Amino acid sequence: MQTISKASSAVSSFRCSSKPTSQPCVRQLHLRKGLVCRVMKLVSSPLRTLRGASKSIRVSNFCSVSNLSSLQIELVPCLKDNYAYILHDEDTGTVGVVDPSEAEPVIDSLQRSGRNLTYILNTHHHHDHTGGNLELKDRYGAKVIGSAVDRDRIPGIDIALKDGDKWMFAGHEVHVMDTPGHTKDHISLYFPGSRAIFTGDTLFSLSCGKLFEGTPKQMLASLQRIISLPDDTSIYCGREYTLSNSKFALSLEPNNEVLQSYAAHVSELRQKKLPTIPTTVKMEKACNPFLRSSNTDIRRALGISETADDAEALGIIREAKDNFKA
Ligand SMILES: [Zn+2]
Repeated sequence: MQTISKASSAVSSFRCSSKPTSQPCVRQLHLRKGLVCRVMKLVSSPLRTLRGASKSIRVSNFCSVSNLSSLQIELVPCLKDNYAYILHDEDTGTVGVVDPSEAEPVIDSLQRSGRNLTYILNTHHHHDHTGGNLELKDRYGAKVIGSAVDRDRIPGIDIALKDGDKWMFAGHEVHVMDTPGHTKDHISLYFPGSRAIFTGDTLFSLSCGKLFEGTPKQMLASLQRIISLPDDTSIYCGREYTLSNSKFALSLEPNNEVLQSYAAHVSELRQKKLPTIPTTVKMEKACNPFLRSSNTDIRRALGISETADDAEALGIIREAKDNFKA
């Protein structure tokens, strides 16, 4: 699986405008359907076992040239610093959008590509994630999908999902994960076949969402659940906050070398008005202070006692972030 997933990421293609622009910058990734790779894993395993690594490479090559099916993820800037994501299954032409805070940029993108919209997926009810629901639903007849627990607060909801549900998006399995903390009924949507998760306002790059309806303990459990996914999982969050988050993270861990170089990279991207999303599970584990609440440097910087548990520490880090001035 490792070999094949590497092959999948090797065929990912990024298409972003290289010049600073106010137009939506589109990042597209072509990701293989999990089924194809799972089938190939079954095929490849005996070959690997019997004949060694060279056969694995052949399998990788097969996966990389295979165009049997794929999921494209297109990043659509909305409002001031929100992102919606358009999902496109190339085989069936099925299109979905995750967290459309407003309809217009999504419509613009769909018009440019001449596509229709089948599904609207929401991570939680906040207006800057659902503000475009009704207009898009009305215009395209798209079905709205969200948390069953949040049913009364998600505009236009048609399909209510709960923790542990496996919903199918045009042949791509979608795992529904409860990730409360920012709101009590926030969900994250994990596409295991594409190694991609949409985390809304739960996990941001180098930070996490504010605790409006949940406790530090709930947020910690939600974050831990997300980072229990494979290291190469791409994380698509709801906001472009990474640059300011990096300043806070560096204030706590100035000697973290991975963080230093990530922060420099983020700064470079933002100077060019390019997105910093997606991030990865691996990067967040190495750099995100909310995932590192047991780290001694972070605890020392904020005067967190050694006896405080990780949830307590996360609460103190969140409070410090709320009051942080870059
Ligand atoms: Zn929110």
